Amino acid sequence: MIQLKQPLVIALDGHSSCGKSSFAKAIASELGYLYIDSGAMYRAVTWYAMQNGLITNGKVDVSSLITKLSSIDIDFRLNSESLKYETFLNEENIEGPIRSLEVSRNVSEISTIKEVRERLVALQQKMGEKKNIVMDGRDIGTVVFPKADIKIFMTASLEVRTQRRFDELKAKGIAASAKEVCENLARRDYIDQNREESPLAKADDAIILDNSDMTPHQQMEWFFKIIEKYQS
Ligand code: C5P
Repeated sequence: MIQLKQPLVIALDGHSSCGKSSFAKAIASELGYLYIDSGAMYRAVTWYAMQNGLITNGKVDVSSLITKLSSIDIDFRLNSESLKYETFLNEENIEGPIRSLEVSRNVSEISTIKEVRERLVALQQKMGEKKNIVMDGRDIGTVVFPKADIKIFMTASLEVRTQRRFDELKAKGIAASAKEVCENLARRDYIDQNREESPLAKADDAIILDNSDMTPHQQMEWFFKIIEKYQS
């Protein structure tokens, strides 16, 4: 484990499926930090909306969802067997369903809703009050923690991201064609970058990491250099 001189907030933003979560988890485990997957929170609200009949043919009943926001409670709990954190919505473990392609298809629409963002950003800021945190998402370095100590903006080519996501879904036994996966990623990137409310953007002081041709080990080596530089 690396010894740091002071507690840090590390913000990791970037395009869909470029390996943000895996990288953020690896950093958190290396530093003994808390890892928060902010995307899981938007997925949880999407799952809630789907379960409560608030999405019909991709169209969200925004006003009804807004009235129900205060009854949506999201938290992360450690699974003592897998030692992985899982997402809970109102006491129910929804880690499996929120990763489905159906949720991926609807999540970017849900993420455009101002009131949803306000509620989730407030929860995320609370989780980061004590620092010692790595959070990944789309607006972490720009909106959630604009004063984060280290900001990383990750990207990779659409081809590489499609292959990674396709392999991930296949490993989980989720059926999807490479074409469907590619279209979903491109569509989510487009909505995320062009929405009015806190669009996906690189913070001015974020460091870019294009990991198209990097192994997880090379990414960690890259991160260690960033930390060294930060502490010197
Ligand atoms: O990170 P993940 O791909 O699971 O995120 C799912 C979706 O949630 C993104 O495509 C984006 O629309 C939304 N999101 C967001 N802001 C965040 C994290 C995720 O808008 N901080």
